Amino acid sequence: MISHYDYLQLSGIQHFVFCRRQWALIFIENQWADNLRTVEGTLLHEKAHDPTSDEKRKDIIIVRGMPIKSDKLRITGICDVVEFIADENGIHINNYEGKYKVYPIEYKRGEPKENEADILQLVAQAICLEEMLCCSINEGAIYYGKTRRRQKVQITDSLRNSTTRFFKEMHEYTQRQYTPKVKPTKSCNACSLKNICLPKLMKSKSVKDYIANHIADEKA
Ligand code: SF4
Repeated sequence: MISHYDYLQLSGIQHFVFCRRQWALIFIENQWADNLRTVEGTLLHEKAHDPTSDEKRKDIIIVRGMPIKSDKLRITGICDVVEFIADENGIHINNYEGKYKVYPIEYKRGEPKENEADILQLVAQAICLEEMLCCSINEGAIYYGKTRRRQKVQITDSLRNSTTRFFKEMHEYTQRQYTPKVKPTKSCNACSLKNICLPKLMKSKSVKDYIANHIADEKA
C-alpha cells in the first residue's frame, strides 16, 4: 500500500533540476534560507493561490490554487492557475454546462530560465491534471512576473519522459536519504542556500554533520 509519505512535493522538481544537492538540502535535510528571490516568489504564489478568486469569464473558468496529485508519479502539489476553456473536444466540469479543455498555468517571479526547471514543473502539473480529470493536455503556459508575459509550453512526450525520470531519481534519493556532495557550478551564485551549503568548505560533510559540529564547537 502507498502511504502519504511516499508522495513527493511536485514543486521540488524545480530545485532538483537547478541543483540536486539544493533539492536534497531542502527536502531531505529540511534546510531552507529565504532570500529576496524566494520571498518574492512566495508572495506571487500566494496571490495566484487565493482560492476565493475563482472566476468565470465568457468562455473560460479560472481556478486558482487547485490541489493536484499523481499516483503514477507519487507527487502532490498545487496548480497556481488552471483555465478551463470552452472546447467541444474537452471534458465536462461539475456544475458547468458544455465541455472544456484543461490549461495549466504556472506563475514565476522572474524571467524564462536557461534550464528546463519551470517547464518540467508545468509538465508535472499537466500529468497530475490528466490523471485526476481523465483528460489529455497538450499545452500549458508559464507566466513570468518580470516580463509580464505567458510563455506557452507544448507538453511533449520527451518532456513527459524527462519529468518522469527526474521524479524517479528524487524518489530514489528520498528512499536512500541521500544528499549529493557539493559540486560548485555557476548556479551557486544565485543559490538561496549557498550560505548553508558552503560550497567551498563542505566537499564531503553533510549539513547535519556540519551544524552538529558547529554547535559542539560553540558549547566547548
Ligand atoms: S550552493 Fe551550489 S552546490 Fe550548494 S546547493 Fe546551491 S547550487 Fe547546489
